[in-house]
Amino acid sequence: MEGDREMHKAVCSDCGAECEVPFVPEEGKKVRCSDCFRKNRPPRRSFGGGGRSFGGGRDRFNRGPREMHKAVCAECKQECEVPFKPTEGKPVLCINCYRNKKNQSQEDEF
Ligand SMILES: [Zn+2]
Ligand SMILES: [Zn+2]
Repeated sequence: MEGDREMHKAVCSDCGAECEVPFVPEEGKKVRCSDCFRKNRPPRRSFGGGGRSFGGGRDRFNRGPREMHKAVCAECKQECEVPFKPTEGKPVLCINCYRNKKNQSQEDEF
């Protein structure tokens, strides 16, 4: 994304130097050369480089095989394994019954 921008000739309204800006200079609007632009810019956010703090911490989403928990299907009463911890009092369905149920309403995407 860099070095590919179209540059436009302009005259810096601060120092009067001829310069090039990466946007079309609008008439009546002030244009600054990159030096003056930088000088007038609040020194806070440095742009370019820096701040790559993301990455890591995302691997809990694609962590290999899921932990399976033994349960008894509420429909067919068969012992089965489910990819979540069965909650007491909540009916658990084996894959077959789960699919059957789902197929009745919408598409199967177990
Ligand atoms: Zn300037
Ligand atoms: Zn079942």
